[in-house]
Amino acid sequence: MAPDPDIKKKLGLVHVYTGNGKGKTTACLGLAFRASGRGLNVLMIQFLKPAKGYGEHIAAERIPNLTIIPMGADHMCGRDVTREEDMALTKEGMRKAEEALTSGEYDLVILDEINNSMSFGLASPQDVIAMLERRAPNTEVVLSGRGVPQEIIDYADLVTEMRLIKHPFYRGIGARKGIEY
Ligand code: ATP
Ligand code: MG
Repeated sequence: MAPDPDIKKKLGLVHVYTGNGKGKTTACLGLAFRASGRGLNVLMIQFLKPAKGYGEHIAAERIPNLTIIPMGADHMCGRDVTREEDMALTKEGMRKAEEALTSGEYDLVILDEINNSMSFGLASPQDVIAMLERRAPNTEVVLSGRGVPQEIIDYADLVTEMRLIKHPFYRGIGARKGIEY
């Protein structure tokens, strides 16, 4: 499905969704849903997230112009993940991101949790900015996750911080299917 050229020509900005409150990945998914409805081709690469079991992966299979690629090891399930493994997966995620950004094949590229990758020292803000500089014209980008570096804030066009006011996690309610994953 080719997007309307009038829609496409206004794209090309960089968004950041950061902060400690819930809503960063769900904001990415909301945007992905909206963009896909307009016929835009959307790719979401999820850094630091494992291969299966998220509601968004199941839903995306039903939308032909929305692809989600998880590129992380499973930290959440108590498995020991080595720094080398994280580094290798981040490098591979960056390679895929570079390919997607430069190809012009995607109208919206979402790099979910890449801010965490930068704050963990797995990817450098300089490398991420250099990659963004090489993106095809009219490719809109989202960088999400906690702890975004200042250089990325300075570079971005739109920055939103989800501020934690309350989260049920702190009264013992863990992640729930369909709401958190
Ligand atoms: P979501 O995917 O629900 O939009 P998020 O992307 O903003 O959340 P992450 O920082 O990626 O949040 O957190 C990963 C997981 O922790 C998600 O299941 C999320 O719902 C949950 N979470 C988010 N904020 C908090 C918080 N302040 N305390 C505890 N858990 C949180
Ligand atoms: Mg998230």
